[in-house]
Amino acid sequence: MITTVRSPEDLAAVAARGATDLEGATAREILGWAAEEFGDGLAVTASMQDTVLAHLAAQVKPGIDVLFLETGYHFIETIGTADAVEAVYDITLRRLLPLQTVAEQDAQYGPDLFSRNPDLCCALRKVAPLNAAMSGYDAWATGLRRAESAARADTPVVSFDVKRGRVKIAPLAAWSDEDVDRYIVENNVLVNPLLSNEYPSIGCEPCTRRVAPGEDARAGRWAGLTKTECGLHT
Ligand code: SF4
Repeated sequence: MITTVRSPEDLAAVAARGATDLEGATAREILGWAAEEFGDGLAVTASMQDTVLAHLAAQVKPGIDVLFLETGYHFIETIGTADAVEAVYDITLRRLLPLQTVAEQDAQYGPDLFSRNPDLCCALRKVAPLNAAMSGYDAWATGLRRAESAARADTPVVSFDVKRGRVKIAPLAAWSDEDVDRYIVENNVLVNPLLSNEYPSIGCEPCTRRVAPGEDARAGRWAGLTKTECGLHT
């Protein structure tokens, strides 16, 4: 982990240039640009649903920091995928912990905060830990794809993350579901076993349900609520 030395103004200018220059570039080219531009100031996030981005990043920048949000509510399969990635890929896995354990959160806010105020639960267990970790980086790469949902349809390849004052990179933004599937098969990429068990989008266990054939891939996330995003990308 490094200490950020570049100013938000500098990073905003880099992001603007990257957005123009890299639209239409391949994921490898985008990651290559980011690795050259930011060096150890670049981190990759991984939900451990699939591990395509972490796999690509390990090829482009061996040893790269991969950030995993350890919310305390993950499926055991997700923890197993994180363990496997740490053991097999040439990356440095950083498990980001919330300030409170689940038991401490229950004591302060009451049990099962996710069922009463999921926005607050996500803010405490996902957004705050990522924000804290980002103080050590200039840029972060995420696996967001335009094809995932209507809300993500306009995802830029490179942007300036105003809230965090960092550059945000989405190397897979233009990838279709088929592109992801093909890369997984061709490169023998580690995937969460739940993916083949009707969970096309995997978050924390209490907030993720199976999806029926024909349903939107993200229909199983916060089902029954208007919430569609955890707050990391909004
Ligand atoms: S996805 Fe659910 S359990 Fe996980 S942090 Fe958000 S509200 Fe809490």
